[in-house]
Amino acid sequence: MNAPLLQVRDLCVEYDTPAGPAKAVDHVSFDLHAGEFLAVVGESGCGKSTMLFSIAQLLTAPAKTVGGEVLFDGANLAELSAEELRRVRWRDLSVVMQSAMNALNPTLSIGAQLADTCRAHTDWDEAKIAARSAEVLSMVSIDPTHLASFPFQLSGGMRQRAMIAMALLLEPKLVIMDEPTSALDVVAQRSLMRQVENLRRELGFAVLFVTHDMSVVSHFSDRLAVMYAGQVVEMGSTRDVFDRPRHPYAHGLLEAFPSLVGDPRPLVGIPGNPPSLVTPPVGCRFADRCEHATDECRTVAPTLELIDGHAVRCHLVAKGVLQ
Ligand code: SF4
Repeated sequence: MNAPLLQVRDLCVEYDTPAGPAKAVDHVSFDLHAGEFLAVVGESGCGKSTMLFSIAQLLTAPAKTVGGEVLFDGANLAELSAEELRRVRWRDLSVVMQSAMNALNPTLSIGAQLADTCRAHTDWDEAKIAARSAEVLSMVSIDPTHLASFPFQLSGGMRQRAMIAMALLLEPKLVIMDEPTSALDVVAQRSLMRQVENLRRELGFAVLFVTHDMSVVSHFSDRLAVMYAGQVVEMGSTRDVFDRPRHPYAHGLLEAFPSLVGDPRPLVGIPGNPPSLVTPPVGCRFADRCEHATDECRTVAPTLELIDGHAVRCHLVAKGVLQ
């Protein structure tokens, strides 16, 4: 297999808080290959969006990357100058934010915003800019007449699709998506995800996608990483994780949303709250919420172990007690 497009190694991010540094992302590592779709799921506050912002070099104070490296297409993104990063963004790597209304400029038409991006990153003439802008809007099923529309004139779903059009404008190798469907209803969510998937297959870009809702990515991602309290607790092929989650937290997450197949079953929440990230537990971070927790769980931190092709951070799974 070719070298990964993105290599994240031991990434650590902290937030400065009055109580001390909060370890929001704790030694996260993974690879993403060209054209692959990796979804990162977990509850709000588990560090998934912070991790994306760190990878895209978009973190701002009080958050800061305090360890690890992000290699993209062979370059360490943290070592690039502001100018080099500017060249990489949009052209090689683009980011779709959670709320298009916040990411789009409300005072400029969609066409003007697409044209601005083209002018900043290419030497295209106005005819080529107009043609490409119309092309990318059509790709996301928005009529090119909307090049003249302002963001407030589009529905929520159309605004998110316009953001995706902007992200694809310069044919990047990687599109990073931070909960782009969270403000949409279920029908619009599904339609947007299907569109992203079709475009990915057609254009071959890789996707790194974070969401708190596992059902959003169940049919679209190749691999799934489950994050809890700043750490990856399980990672494997999406099908495998859905069919046979090993980590008790991944199990709980799957039981917390309705299944699209089989008989209806009651939804079960995960009792309790995540631990403090300023003073995380010395043992397993999930121990206070885990029905299987042992003394070892509370005193020894489990490491991420490869078990049947799945990476799992759990003492009892590693010992074969939980399967
Ligand atoms: Fe539960 Fe222990 Fe596994 Fe943590 S290590 S998830 S507490 S069984």
